Amino acid sequence: MISFTSFDDFIEEARMFHGSASPGLMIGASMVELALHSMGRTKNYHALCETERDLPDAVQLLTPCTTGNGRLHVLSLGRFAMTLFRLQNGKGVRIYLDLGKTAGWPHIRRWALQNMEGGEKEQIRLEHEIRKAGISILSATSVQMRTVFMHEAALGPMSACISCGEPHPASTGQLCRACAGQSPYVPYLPAAPLFNSGRSSL
Ligand SMILES: [Zn+2]
Repeated sequence: MISFTSFDDFIEEARMFHGSASPGLMIGASMVELALHSMGRTKNYHALCETERDLPDAVQLLTPCTTGNGRLHVLSLGRFAMTLFRLQNGKGVRIYLDLGKTAGWPHIRRWALQNMEGGEKEQIRLEHEIRKAGISILSATSVQMRTVFMHEAALGPMSACISCGEPHPASTGQLCRACAGQSPYVPYLPAAPLFNSGRSSL
């Protein structure tokens, strides 16, 4: 979490952290600001993003919630929305990009519907609209989180996988999830020799 004195400060930090100050990240900053304001004075909250796109980085830059500390949950719902909620009672506030409020902001609307034509001029106009619109394109609703989100993720007993030998949650069985078929990697093949050390066959 980083403290910013201005929006331009945030843009600069966003460029270093995220690679660019993307429109989603800029709108995300306003969403986090509105959510924090709506939550009042509390530090003990978690965040949930309904898309992997941009929003998780806005949350990680502007709140103490990160994926690594378990306080940021990311769901692939495809909606440009985020929620801050209290862990004790699951009460929270959900902020979403409200299409009904984008009528006066044509570039933001086109961006939201992924209907951009592309080009530098359009990007500049979009950034200008985002800065001017601020939180006016957002809406907030109260939400009650499901119980499953109201517990800190705890590590249970671990055991060595009988295939790879690496520690993994014992509750998943003798094989770790990767060895049980969920590995993201293609199966390992023994490396072929790079060159013949013997005589040439030519
Ligand atoms: Zn394994």
